[in-house]
Amino acid sequence: MGDPTIGVLAVQGDVREHAAALAEAGALARPVRKAHEIAEVDALVIPGGESTTMSKLAVSFGLLEPLRARVRDGMPVYGSCAGMIMLADKILDGRPDQETVGGIDMTVRRNAFGRQNQSFEADVAFAPTPEAPVHGVFIRAPWVESVGTGVEVLATLDAEPHAGRIVAVRQGNLVATAFHPELTGDRRVHEYFVAMVRAAL
Ligand code: GLN
Repeated sequence: MGDPTIGVLAVQGDVREHAAALAEAGALARPVRKAHEIAEVDALVIPGGESTTMSKLAVSFGLLEPLRARVRDGMPVYGSCAGMIMLADKILDGRPDQETVGGIDMTVRRNAFGRQNQSFEADVAFAPTPEAPVHGVFIRAPWVESVGTGVEVLATLDAEPHAGRIVAVRQGNLVATAFHPELTGDRRVHEYFVAMVRAAL
């Protein structure tokens, strides 16, 4: 089987970094901006950026319903940071009119780490890569406030003041991280997603 084609939602956010990470992890990466392009990929990454803007643009470009339909059909999607917010069934501290694609039975709080900790880095024990933690870059990141019973927690923070906060989850073919592995050069999170996509095909 050839390399899977994985789109990166390219309405806003750090699209190029994810495309580069996917290529290094063994996928063919391509930007997705139009509704018909959603039908042409095996899987999708929703990058970091600003979820309120991303949501608005996804609505005005007519992408939201096609995305929801493919998620319902089981398309694998990985959301990082703002992308995690986009995959949440419920959000806290969003804009009143903020829409998400949804699909993961979780409540995510936007900008959860507050002012002093808006951006920080921490080693994160990521369950799919038990050999060594991943380096988590958190940029005005959300956290997962609560999850439903079908959701697997892949990572929680170890260090105070945020010990126990959930920062990576998976439900079915959907995976989300509050941090930005595309910025570190460590490709294990993208490799994990590409393996998930291969298994789903
Ligand atoms: N704070 C941003 C939001 O609400 C997310 C930040 C990020 O993706 N780095 O969308």
